Amino acid sequence: GSTIGVLGGGQLGRMMTLAGTNLGYRFVTLDPTPSSPCGQVAEQIVAGYDDQEAAKKLAERSDVITYEFENVDAGVAALLEELSHVPQGSRLLYTTQHRLREKRAVEAAGAAVAPYAEIGSEQELREAVARLGIPSVLKTATGGYDGKGQWVIRSEAEIGPAYAELSKAGTELVLEQFIPFVKELSVIAARSPRGEIRTFPVAENIHVDNILHASIVPARIDQEVQREAERLASRIAESMEAVGLLAVEMFLTGDGRIYVNELAPRPHNSGHYTMEACTTSQFEQHVRAVCNLPLGEAKLLTPVVMVNVLGEHVEAVTEAVATGRWGEVEAGSTALANVVPKVHLYGKAGSAAKRKMGHVNVLCSDVQDAVDFIQQTTIWRNQLI
Ligand code: ATP
Ligand code: MG
Ligand code: MG
Repeated sequence: GSTIGVLGGGQLGRMMTLAGTNLGYRFVTLDPTPSSPCGQVAEQIVAGYDDQEAAKKLAERSDVITYEFENVDAGVAALLEELSHVPQGSRLLYTTQHRLREKRAVEAAGAAVAPYAEIGSEQELREAVARLGIPSVLKTATGGYDGKGQWVIRSEAEIGPAYAELSKAGTELVLEQFIPFVKELSVIAARSPRGEIRTFPVAENIHVDNILHASIVPARIDQEVQREAERLASRIAESMEAVGLLAVEMFLTGDGRIYVNELAPRPHNSGHYTMEACTTSQFEQHVRAVCNLPLGEAKLLTPVVMVNVLGEHVEAVTEAVATGRWGEVEAGSTALANVVPKVHLYGKAGSAAKRKMGHVNVLCSDVQDAVDFIQQTTIWRNQLI
């Protein structure tokens, strides 16, 4: 079979490898951390992401190259494109690495984004806050994740400090109007080089401290809104001529409007539910797309709630695997009776608080049962859902 090279050895690469291995592919990953989550299930070249010699080695060993994170060095992306086959191309990366370029691409596809302004000075920030209103959200244009590199400006007094803090990053800044959303949604679209597009069902996402806590599927929204969200994701993937997966994060407002928040050109945490709950997982679909295979059907097999396992949860979840006991919820209690929790651990060494260590797909016949289960276990108790 052919070999797929994966730039980045985190959990997304690991789950991609597990799915693609079942289709008969071999995998090699490039990551600086020895025995990375992906390196435990694939061959690994241990080197930095910007190491050109290592990138050449990856290209030599691979028939196709993909990436599992978006901050790939532009020089390395260009080199890999030259030396090997990178079906996703570097343009998708270039666009999604920068919030302003990304917003323009979303608008060009005919989807709405929160009103925004490019910020080059504190004076421009003052003018933009006056125009977009308070609260509004100041973000670095590049490099942010898990809410890092942003500041919600809630009063005029915060303008100076917000600008001083975020301009330290040395990247451009963007100010967004604060959208008073009723739900956060995401849709993952897949597009293959031959132009085939499929979308996965809409996920309803719950964040705690700016980190994804849970994804609920089906999302508790009207069918019509679900169809519109899927249509938007598909239009954006088509308009950008994306190849592989494109995750689209969205805000839904009380009057039924959808705003696109941001994009990710890779498997997404909010798509982990697909592993047991869909006819094709996002990881298999990504492999299918980059290898230009026919895409798989992406239908929901069962309602599901995906809950993340962070550093502070991993010990208790490991215990649950061994004993069948989920914190204080006893096996056979009503909280467990109506759900089937499927555990995925990523094999990361060291479990700092807030670090993503795994996830659990709680299969159910009604998402409320899975929500109750997650709320009732001592593992996640007191986290909002
Ligand atoms: P990720 O880890 O998803 O990459 P990120 O650091 O890139 O996150 P965003 O997704 O842009 O950040 O924002 C993080 C969260 O902050 C959003 O999920 C949302 O809850 C809130 N947020 C961001 N922008 C806005 C906005 N314009 N209006 C209201 N809430 C917002
Ligand atoms: Mg982001
Ligand atoms: Mg986000």
